Amino acid sequence: SPIPDYLTQVLDTCAPDSGELAEYIPELAAVDPDRFALSLVTAEGDAYSVGDHQDAFTIQSISKPFVYGLALETLGFEAVLDHVGVEPSGEAFSEISLERNTGRPLNPMINAGALATHALVASTPPADSGVERILKLLSSLAGRELDIDEKVARSELDNGYRNLALANLLRSYDVFTGDPRAVVEGYVRQCAVRVTTADLGMMAATLASGGVQPHTGEQIFSRPVVRQVLSVMATCGMYDAAGDWLTTIGIPAKSGVSGGIIGILPGQLGIAVFSPRLDPHGTSARGVEVCERLSRDMNLHLMDAP
Ligand code: GLU
Repeated sequence: SPIPDYLTQVLDTCAPDSGELAEYIPELAAVDPDRFALSLVTAEGDAYSVGDHQDAFTIQSISKPFVYGLALETLGFEAVLDHVGVEPSGEAFSEISLERNTGRPLNPMINAGALATHALVASTPPADSGVERILKLLSSLAGRELDIDEKVARSELDNGYRNLALANLLRSYDVFTGDPRAVVEGYVRQCAVRVTTADLGMMAATLASGGVQPHTGEQIFSRPVVRQVLSVMATCGMYDAAGDWLTTIGIPAKSGVSGGIIGILPGQLGIAVFSPRLDPHGTSARGVEVCERLSRDMNLHLMDAP
């Protein structure tokens, strides 16, 4: 297949890296900034990976769309929409983007909404197994057993003043009941699940194939849930760069501060890229460049007529 050669060429030609590591989680600032990997997985499950694709990193915010999907599956649309909206905030990931009066977070991709979503999942019985259920979900999406980088989770928790503030604010509006600290603890462990780009490629491909994991055949998300998740990714997944991303690259996507990005072309493929240096939006700088290149070369933009 010519695909691996093409993907290698994309890695080779994507610019000398610029950007900064995520300093606010000390453990993330300790990674090798030059790591670079790309995976492409078709909706049928044909997988291609190049670069440092066996290197693991923490999933961070790329967990958010999947945990949102889990919340929709377990609690239903109405209950979830009651607690978390679907409007783009146009603001950075950790902004206090809450609806006036109700305190409902604007969407599940920003931290406020992801904390509320995590709390929803964690509040469904059996009690105290929220993180395990999330780990199990992410593992079944990847098609292998994943684990948690407890060192990264601890590092984030020790410096997690802002997420704690957000969780306290949500608690004050009764967006969730229970202990804000426990929600943040669970949320940072959700963010610290260890993945490779190959894993993320499979997870993205599962969304591309209508919720069916292409290798195991398991229907992990129903079609309405996949549609909801992809719609929210398209409008809110890239935070305050969501409009720029959708107009130039044109596919639903999600970034994370450890340097990963996933993109999904519904019915066709999942893409995952990893490069730790971040642009000012907290998104992998080289990852954006790779996605621009792939979108252009393969005509991936959803708004283009076929
Ligand atoms: N765990 C990170 C936080 O809550 C995730 C942010 C991101 O990946 O954009 O700050």
